[in-house]
Amino acid sequence: MTNRHRAAGLLILAAMTSFSFLYWSCSHSSREDSGAEEADRFIRVGRLSGRVVMVKMGAEAITAIATQQGIVVVDAGLSHSLTARYRKAIEKELGRNDFTYLINTHGHPDHTGGNQVFSDAVIIGHDNCPDEIRAYWKDPDRIRTGYLKIADEYAGSLGGMNTGSEEWEETTCQKIRYGHAAADLTESRMITIPSVTFNDRLSLSMGDVTLDLIWFGKAHSTSDIIIHVPEEKLLFTGDLFTRYGRPGIETARKRDVERWKSVMQWIRSRREQIGNIIGGHGLVMTLEDLDAFGQYVDRKWEEAEGR
Ligand SMILES: [Zn+2]
Repeated sequence: MTNRHRAAGLLILAAMTSFSFLYWSCSHSSREDSGAEEADRFIRVGRLSGRVVMVKMGAEAITAIATQQGIVVVDAGLSHSLTARYRKAIEKELGRNDFTYLINTHGHPDHTGGNQVFSDAVIIGHDNCPDEIRAYWKDPDRIRTGYLKIADEYAGSLGGMNTGSEEWEETTCQKIRYGHAAADLTESRMITIPSVTFNDRLSLSMGDVTLDLIWFGKAHSTSDIIIHVPEEKLLFTGDLFTRYGRPGIETARKRDVERWKSVMQWIRSRREQIGNIIGGHGLVMTLEDLDAFGQYVDRKWEEAEGR
């Protein structure tokens, strides 16, 4: 799908919804087993606006936008068994389950591992996203061993922490995520890739909400996309950067500076329609963070020009 699918005459709502955390609550899903019970203690559900819900567990987050034409979810987490619980939390919070689209901000496993949970929706990503996912899953045994090792390391480091502290909760969530992801690697694990991909831009008109997607260029991965939701003044940036503009795009082989520069211009042209930025792990950032990232891209552009 390309620009020609772009819907014309979009209605931008005059009254933009102000973006704030209306509340956070714990998920109270049913508890079938001890692993799930432990996970449920740490799953937080936040209402960011009347139609935007974020489900977080530690450093993991997925966001759901309730539109007139169904629910759109951004990213799917690492473990499909955990993501199934995030989905339940979204359904409970919104009181509906009409999932229309799941968008992968990029192909990394901690954003696409739960794709199969939304197989009733159309999954969207960049053209490079399917190959990125397939390449990652070439050796599931090695991945499982790696996940177990990571979970063990997190479990081991808990001993020196104060129970209930922020660090303890963060580490516990990491232990749970990787433990679940390792356990997922059974017959129930399906490699689920986007069925709709695009190379440059894609616009989804969902009635009262529009989602404009643009490929950032090879950067943090080969499939990083930006998602702008003007009616919510939201910009999703995946793992491209985090607070204070700190970029996640340092590997030289993935540099695509000319493309980055043109996408930054696209973003800057929409500045008035951006209030908050949601990073790939649920961090809500401001325009200042975006500006700092833009300055990084400018520097890279200058370096490239000076070659
Ligand atoms: Zn990533």
